[in-house]
Amino acid sequence: MKSDSFDFTAALQKALADPQIGGNFRGALDGLRGKRLALFNDAEELASLRATGKALKARVLSRLPELLTQLEANCEKNGIRVHWAETTEQANRIVLSILRECGADMVVKGKSMVSEEMGLNRFLEQNGVEPVETDLGEFIIQLAVEPPSHITAPALHKNKLQVAEIFHRCVPGAPYTENVEELNAIARTTLREKFRTAKAGLSGVNFAIAETGTLVLVENEGNGRMCTHVPPVHIALMGLEKVVEKLDDLPPLMRLLTGSATGQLLSTYVNAITSPRAEGELDGPREVHLVILDNGRSTMFADPELSGALRCLRCGACLNNCPVYVRVGGHAYGSVYPGPIGAVITPQLEGIDNKGDLAGASSLCGACEEVCPVKIPLAGHLRRIRAEGQAAPGEGCVRGAGAKRSLVERLAWTAWAYTETHPRLREYLLRAAALMGDKLPEVGPLKTWTAARTAPRVAPKSLRQRVREEGIRHE
Ligand code: SF4
Repeated sequence: MKSDSFDFTAALQKALADPQIGGNFRGALDGLRGKRLALFNDAEELASLRATGKALKARVLSRLPELLTQLEANCEKNGIRVHWAETTEQANRIVLSILRECGADMVVKGKSMVSEEMGLNRFLEQNGVEPVETDLGEFIIQLAVEPPSHITAPALHKNKLQVAEIFHRCVPGAPYTENVEELNAIARTTLREKFRTAKAGLSGVNFAIAETGTLVLVENEGNGRMCTHVPPVHIALMGLEKVVEKLDDLPPLMRLLTGSATGQLLSTYVNAITSPRAEGELDGPREVHLVILDNGRSTMFADPELSGALRCLRCGACLNNCPVYVRVGGHAYGSVYPGPIGAVITPQLEGIDNKGDLAGASSLCGACEEVCPVKIPLAGHLRRIRAEGQAAPGEGCVRGAGAKRSLVERLAWTAWAYTETHPRLREYLLRAAALMGDKLPEVGPLKTWTAARTAPRVAPKSLRQRVREEGIRHE
């Protein structure tokens, strides 16, 4: 599902002008960063764990088609029906047909970023099915009719008072309360009835183990377990990069995922689903379906460099540590995946012509890749996406390559190269720049560039000129 076209610059300015966004994000992200640091307090151990995580995911990518085939075979052997979807439209149709087959006009949903990518909720509503988000954060933003602002903490941009107002306004009969326990109780009471009566539940997948055909889902609220075990039909959605080789790979990957996401040694719930309810078992769904989505991932996989982004565990640590994301929050990106990883994968999934600007929302400081548990070179990928945007016709591999190519910019670089290779001209220009002094930043594109930066000052005399006049002094 493609996001509607949006003005990234306007969205950034709006977010920067809203003190509440900055305040809410800074407080919440400081907490998440602190918990991660407290858990990973042994630098050597963390380095070794990250190297293991990177190697495991790189090995998956080196055998991706084979592992997906193995996963499908083992899931089918276990009684899990596997569906392949090349596009989000196909994935939506598959989910709808399963829901129609089981007569569900309402589905309880655990957290799934792939379902956000598919625009599943809107599609289901248009087709007469009520999607009910059951993750507390997702529940809040569904009531507020807003998209998630973070990969793992979708309602991070809301504070307690805002949640109190939303519940009071949107949940029938809910009193106004700022008491967190009471707010939790309102959500629990509302959702319990939905779990009890839903004919189908839907969830994401954190890891799909090819060796055993097992779907692993980590969560902290227990709603994931309710969605996957209470209704008679369970539909699991995953991007094709979620496959892992074997059960033994799980402990280091889980440790990296939960530690990087929330600073937890292990999440409160770990669900491992290997089959529907077996003969004689008292609970569990009677049908389990797995929908495996491509949606541009195969194209990413084909690129030896950018395929590294498919190692992503969706832990959100790169967002929490990004100086841009911390200030503007997730909505400013106008995409399902915000922050550094979003700026890398969204232009690839939706085209550089559509979302190439996102790659510019980075100082390339590298804070994101320093914390990435699987060592994705995010700054390098951002530079590559920027370069793809400037690619010449016929060059570039990413969808929409060359869309950001501008005549003015090319002329500027050509002029710069000419000046740098002609020292006399360079000196004349530098002298002219020194004479213009403070006026320089008020000219043309420099005005935009210096609007949010300290204007560079040109020295009255160049080094070359001073050497010529004063000679070289050895001190
Ligand atoms: S890129 Fe790395 S840090 Fe960011 S969400 Fe993915 S795994 Fe986590």
